[in-house]
Amino acid sequence: MTETYGSEFIQKFESFAPKYLAEAGDPVGLAVGTLKKPIKKMMVTLDVRPEVVQEAIEQHVDFIFAHHPPIFRPLKNLATDDAQTKMYADLLKNDITVYAAHTNLDVATNGMNTWLADELNLTETEILHVTKRLAYKKIAVFVPKENEEEVRKALTAAGAGQIGPNYKDCTYTFEGVGRFTPINQANPTIGEIDEPEHVAEVRIEVVFPEHLTQTIEKALFEAHPYEEPPYDLYTIENFVDEYGLGRIGNLAEPISVQEFAQKVKETFGVSGLRYVTPDKDKLIQRVAVCGGDAGSYYPDALNKKADVFITGDVYYHTAHDMLADGLSVIDPGHHIESICKPKLVELFTEWKSDLEWDFDIIQSELNTDPYKFI
Ligand SMILES: [Zn+2]
Repeated sequence: MTETYGSEFIQKFESFAPKYLAEAGDPVGLAVGTLKKPIKKMMVTLDVRPEVVQEAIEQHVDFIFAHHPPIFRPLKNLATDDAQTKMYADLLKNDITVYAAHTNLDVATNGMNTWLADELNLTETEILHVTKRLAYKKIAVFVPKENEEEVRKALTAAGAGQIGPNYKDCTYTFEGVGRFTPINQANPTIGEIDEPEHVAEVRIEVVFPEHLTQTIEKALFEAHPYEEPPYDLYTIENFVDEYGLGRIGNLAEPISVQEFAQKVKETFGVSGLRYVTPDKDKLIQRVAVCGGDAGSYYPDALNKKADVFITGDVYYHTAHDMLADGLSVIDPGHHIESICKPKLVELFTEWKSDLEWDFDIIQSELNTDPYKFI
């Protein structure tokens, strides 16, 4: 067991839900405090509210991991007469770091929306609304045979060679002969000025996500023995990684809208929900779900032939439009996202044992749903 700095934990987390997956303008990441200290006790929460911060203080928590960013709109002052700003002061006074993973966690493969779909037992799930398409490139590097392994390892360590969630270190190599003549001011690793040279070389081919181009080139330049490392970059056209909000899938059996609404209420443990339907007895089987407030994505649910769409915070006029389009909608509220608490604790606990982290992980026991039903 070793001390785990906030930065080490976040490096691992961001390989699961990278920040570049977040929507533009979403203030994800470090919100309060510092990552440059060891974590002793982490608390996972959906919302950072004043009562949650009190809970953290009582529990001697020094790192809060939240889904909803605590500072969503810019502050105009830090006057502590206001409960919200006093909360920031309490966090700083108690040396509590807050890190938020919001829309990057929503879209991550096996993140928030996958958890919601799993909880509803949806099968054959796909993304409801694609927000990011990550293109791939391929690098082909020519390297002397004896340097092959170190260059290959440098490329894969920099993130090349990962194909889908289940395969890493995917490379292809073949042997050949490299020929060159150093001229003018060259300072060759192998060979002499004006003497034609030939070297037994290996060509390493490996794919990587386009956004890693600079990192991969840097790793190549550092590991390659040549003054001018020979390499080609290609754009890959036959696959992209898609990420997006919401999931759509199928239930094992058809069920009426009303019965399904009841089931959703039980599944997410909410004390009430609203639903909109042209016919409460209609049998449904194809279900779209999107955490948070995703009423505006209902056309995606229609396009993908959903019978019912589950999301929170549906507006009155949007509900009218949904009804007019013949879509059934179940609104169990925004708080169903609190499912992220046990899921994140489970995930982090798994990482903790794999990576021998030495800090405690708990979840906030408070219910931060502001709505009550009568
Ligand atoms: Zn949310």
